[in-house]
Amino acid sequence: MFCPNCGEEYSWDVMVCPTCDVDTVDRLPGPEPTPDVALVSILATGDAGLIAVAKSLLEGEGIDYFVRGDGLQDLFGLGRATGFSFAMGPAEFWVREDDATRARELLNDLTSDRRE
Ligand SMILES: [Zn+2]
Repeated sequence: MFCPNCGEEYSWDVMVCPTCDVDTVDRLPGPEPTPDVALVSILATGDAGLIAVAKSLLEGEGIDYFVRGDGLQDLFGLGRATGFSFAMGPAEFWVREDDATRARELLNDLTSDRRE
């Protein structure tokens, strides 16, 4: 659960933010890039297998990301969606600019392996 006011994360059973006294929500609105974080698109693919591998690589490295695609959205670090359909079009991976170089290196290995 997240407080929509201060953005604090709480466990699922916390219904009211103790700091702000407002109802918590199970996800924050978004994914609108926050003004102080530059986001970079590192990969766009419609390949569901590649998407799955890219996600596991990024998660394995602890890189926050979200996936934006036609009709589908994911959020930084929030509960990984299950039951997602990737049949809707290419998904685009976004990471923080700080992580982009590392993320690209990870995914470059991935995409070049697949071409060989
Ligand atoms: Zn709060």
